[in-house]
Amino acid sequence: MSKNTDFIFILDKFNRFSIRALICAFEKFFPEYSYSVVNFEDILQLKVKNSMLFFSFNSLNFSKYTDTVSLFKKDGNILVCGGPHPSARPEKMAELFDCVCVGEGEFVLKDIVQSHLQGSLQRGIYKSNTKVNLDEFDVYPKKVLMFGAIEIMRGCQYRCSYCQTPALFPGKLRHRSIESILSNIQYSYKYEKKDYRFISPDAASYMYDKNININAIYELLTGIKKVTENRARIFFGSFPSEINPYFVNEDLVKILKEFCYNRRVVIGLQTASKSQLKRINRSEEIDKVENTIDIFLKYGFNVDVDFIFGLPFETEETLSETFAWISSWHKKVRIHSHYFMPLPGSKWENESPTPIPDKFIKEIKKYEGKGRIFGQWLTQLKIAQNIANEDNICQICKI
Ligand code: SF4
Repeated sequence: MSKNTDFIFILDKFNRFSIRALICAFEKFFPEYSYSVVNFEDILQLKVKNSMLFFSFNSLNFSKYTDTVSLFKKDGNILVCGGPHPSARPEKMAELFDCVCVGEGEFVLKDIVQSHLQGSLQRGIYKSNTKVNLDEFDVYPKKVLMFGAIEIMRGCQYRCSYCQTPALFPGKLRHRSIESILSNIQYSYKYEKKDYRFISPDAASYMYDKNININAIYELLTGIKKVTENRARIFFGSFPSEINPYFVNEDLVKILKEFCYNRRVVIGLQTASKSQLKRINRSEEIDKVENTIDIFLKYGFNVDVDFIFGLPFETEETLSETFAWISSWHKKVRIHSHYFMPLPGSKWENESPTPIPDKFIKEIKKYEGKGRIFGQWLTQLKIAQNIANEDNICQICKI
């Protein structure tokens, strides 16, 4: 029976990167087996049986999976889930799915599929014990065409209180080598791919070695130009990545200007209150951030600065500091707004958002009206408000 199993990866617009990484692992470990990739909406229409289905989801969209998983829990199907939400809430997810992957998926997928093929699969929670060396895995699958941003780093050297990444990828920051990145780009270039974006917690930390590694970044960017016959459009330090302002110097900005297509960069500040920066475990050197912004502006970049409204422990004073900063910088930068959500697995998973006083909401709306604040803070506020009313363990995910 095991040999006749169909392996199906379920795709949606939020999990493309993680599903692609899992598919690459599947191809590496089980090259003799085929698989299919099906969109979440389409799988709901299909009659699936004797299949192993792989789901990956975060804490913002987990409910669409948990609400529909019962549709597949029959006809010999085996349901496997992983990603930020299952990693933070494995016991709850184990009530719905057969196998739950905690942490990095590559080797766990191998264990699960191998056990299944040997007829010895146990239902339950599988924890990842092996740190993935990114170089050992392709960026792009070979049996299906799936391109997109390249994961050049995994993990983060910071521990921001609101972020799930440190719990999901604990330990040291890992880098994909320049050689590996270029060989994957060479492959995608054969398919006429010319736009290159990168997945990293901080593009400026690439090959970080006690300090920003300008040589490595230079070698990477020039290497990309070379393997693509100078036709690549490189997006570095913009979505889906960002740039940590504390590492940036003029040399870095000069090479970004020379080799990159993006003229907009994303910088995280989150709050302009030093006491709040300390609480969220980020540097309090706001002047360093301002200096970084000025360097980017000097070289003709547009700058978006990330802020999180509704952070726990906000006071009138801390909010005043943040809005004073926005008031003095809004003509030079755009503010990218977010609202605090207590993400499972983050240090602040049990904290509640601080409601924003009306006078500050008016400020936000004023700057939105001028196009100087943009983003999803209101949508995220509504999610956070709904979950704050729930009497449960996790205030965001209702489980
Ligand atoms: S918010 Fe960014 S810098 Fe902070 S821990 Fe998360 S990934 Fe790292």
